[in-house]
Amino acid sequence: MASSTQFQIIIVGGGIAGLSAAIALRAPGRQITILEQSRLHSEIGATISLQPNASKILRDSWKLGKDEQKIARGMVDRGFRVYNPEAELVNHIPLLEKQEYGADRIMYHRQDLHESLKQAATSTRRHGPPAVIRTSCRVTKCDCEAGVVTLASGEKLKGDLLVGADGIHSTIRQFVLDQQIVPRPTGLSAYRLMVPSEILEEQAPDFCKNISPREPFTSMIMAHSCRLIMGPAREGDIYSMVGLVPDEKMNEDPDSKQSWVSRGHLHKMLETYHEFPEWIKIVFKLAPEIGLWQLRDTDPLETWTKGKVIVIGDAAHAMLPTQGQGASQTVEDAEALGAFFEDIADVPDADQIASILGQIFRCRFERASLIQKYSRDVAKPATEKGSNEVKMRTDEFMDYNCLYCGAKEWQKGQIMQASA
Ligand SMILES: Cc1cc2nc3c(=O)[nH]c(=O)nc-3n(C[C@H](O)[C@H](O)[C@H](O)COP(=O)(O)OP(=O)(O)OC[C@H]3O[C@@H](n4cnc5c(N)ncnc54)[C@H](O)[C@@H]3O)c2cc1C
Repeated sequence: MASSTQFQIIIVGGGIAGLSAAIALRAPGRQITILEQSRLHSEIGATISLQPNASKILRDSWKLGKDEQKIARGMVDRGFRVYNPEAELVNHIPLLEKQEYGADRIMYHRQDLHESLKQAATSTRRHGPPAVIRTSCRVTKCDCEAGVVTLASGEKLKGDLLVGADGIHSTIRQFVLDQQIVPRPTGLSAYRLMVPSEILEEQAPDFCKNISPREPFTSMIMAHSCRLIMGPAREGDIYSMVGLVPDEKMNEDPDSKQSWVSRGHLHKMLETYHEFPEWIKIVFKLAPEIGLWQLRDTDPLETWTKGKVIVIGDAAHAMLPTQGQGASQTVEDAEALGAFFEDIADVPDADQIASILGQIFRCRFERASLIQKYSRDVAKPATEKGSNEVKMRTDEFMDYNCLYCGAKEWQKGQIMQASA
């Protein structure tokens, strides 16, 4: 463990949170190392959206370049369309009219967004030394006060700042909290599948007559307590479906499907969706593979930080995808790290680090926790009634989510509120 005159930052986890944190923290005089347990070759095949609050950060704070945007192949979502199973449009919520949000909701293939963030974190063309990603490095222990992580191999690494971006089943979190937090089932599971649009056009004409797979809209069908949420990615080349199903309606064992990479079974999915019309079910049959995972979240944590360590992203506030805010809140966390460490030019001491991490936690906690609660609330009745009280209306919540303008602005608002 060599000492260094550079500000040493260790990020545990190379998912959206870890890569975003690396982009936000890059600056001259800082050495960022990302430790990722996997070989980083298998980001999930599914779509993901960034809401205006996050796409604003990618565009304005991180200034993702043309190359990075080309890799991301994002599509601006023009609105939500809600259909009944008879293919009648029952509700349409345009998104482009929401100019006051200052940015768009953008849909991506997860692999593309991940690759684009990886490029930005490691590119030599950005500010500060590129982050170094070490794959096949699983962290098993963390000494928060000393800033030391231990890998499965026994190797120890020391940082001035440690960021736990290691997802919903975080290892780092248990060292921050001195206890193991088990993510709780929310009563919902999700099927996910993707089909090339070309195949739909050739083999599912009835589906394409009702829902054009290349048009940049998010479509939803809700019936018999099952929901389908659908939309294009990769500039319309692929079409994705996520099927949210209450666990008790599902014909599979939900507890065996806790990982995003678990497989679902076509015949069981068809059984679950048997009341849906054939023009929709044909898409399930055309999917090369079906994923299935049980959706879990966590209650708000007591703290996100201890000593030189902070947890962010799903490690700090795993939430249901019902608001599409999981990745967006993660991007907000990373932006907050960048903003609060912006003025730190030298190697900060332990007290400085602890003080800055405390400020980040106080700035982020209430907002992320409320969005987490609301995401759970929207999933009712699948989650138990009365488990949390969120009093805002949906449109108020959209404004709350999307009008965000970065951590420092948010902190100013908090200070004004406190002094009012
Ligand atoms: C069905 C579904 C749809 C979603 N859709 C959206 C959406 O539309 N919009 C949105 O904003 N969000 C969405 N989300 C949520 C979003 O994907 C996550 O909130 C976001 O990606 C944050 O992930 P993360 O980087 O914190 O965790 P992860 O993506 O889980 O990454 C954690 C990384 O850490 C690594 N790791 C774990 N443990 C260790 C260890 N001990 N040592 C080293 N490495 C480790 C893992 O291998 C992994 O690469 C969705 C989630 C689901 C389930």
